[in-house]
Amino acid sequence: MVDYPKAFVTGYPISHSCSPQVHRYWLRLYKLEGWYEPVEITVEHFPTFIQSLQERKYCGGNVTLPHKERAFTLAARCDRTATCIGSVNTLWFEEDVLCGSNTDAYGFICNLNDCAPGWIRNTAIVIGAGGAACAILFALKEQGFKKILLFNRTRTKADHLADRFGQEVFVADLDSINSYINRADLIVNTTSLGMRSSYNSNKNDINIDFTNAHPDLVVADIVYTPRVTAFLKNAQKEGLKTVDGIGMLLHQAVPGFERWFGIRPQVTKELRSHILITTQEK
Ligand code: NAP
Repeated sequence: MVDYPKAFVTGYPISHSCSPQVHRYWLRLYKLEGWYEPVEITVEHFPTFIQSLQERKYCGGNVTLPHKERAFTLAARCDRTATCIGSVNTLWFEEDVLCGSNTDAYGFICNLNDCAPGWIRNTAIVIGAGGAACAILFALKEQGFKKILLFNRTRTKADHLADRFGQEVFVADLDSINSYINRADLIVNTTSLGMRSSYNSNKNDINIDFTNAHPDLVVADIVYTPRVTAFLKNAQKEGLKTVDGIGMLLHQAVPGFERWFGIRPQVTKELRSHILITTQEK
């Protein structure tokens, strides 16, 4: 009989997820009795899995691709962030009611605060229009950005996403992006383009020319395998401040851990090093 809190991360596939390493690190560090496990669930079986959470003795868990939007519709109560983003990555129970939130926006902002203190909240460029871009747009609007320029390979997807976020978000064609770089205080790549599995060259596949960038421009990539993507390398060559995606992954895990295991964990250099070793091995 399991009498300690048990949480999960589910997705399809799930073997690539670093979340078990993050949560197990904190469980060991804080000497807590608890368990966190990966559970691979297909799209077809996801609703049944969610309905069986209490039967399986879970107090909650994380949800990753491709289930985040479905989790939003299945949670009985979602907070404002999840409702604005339209997807859920963290689930927990409150008096038997399944609740959902999305902590990606929180994780992104905490990581910027850690890695680029003093970053300017005026004009941003966001590349990509998938689920992660939606969380980033929400985060930037919450931070008070006056202008957010959105670019995506498939322009119609960017148009649809911008419609959800109001007048601060403008869409332009991806091939015109270089003419906007000098206006930006922050540029974020949210596409999966830089992922190890999706590219095998060292060139900057989105063809960004950083030579005219403002010297205070902060360049962020939310991809974390590899840690330094070609996009970030090109920005570094121009002497720009860059922020990788590992910290976002670590910070987005904090609210869930606190809900399930009762302690608000710290994102430290030691945790970062531990996870970097793990992601290199994957
Ligand atoms: P998604 O919904 O599938 O969206 C993928 C985005 O990438 C779309 O905008 C897509 O453009 C674009 N894209 C893919 N291949 C491309 C290519 N060859 N050229 C140009 N654009 C391309 O995925 P997501 O959920 O937004 O996740 C995106 C990335 O963020 C993933 O790598 C994920 O691991 C990472 N992520 C990291 C964290 C973190 O904690 N660090 C959190 C969430 C996500 P189209 O619309 O044209 O297809």
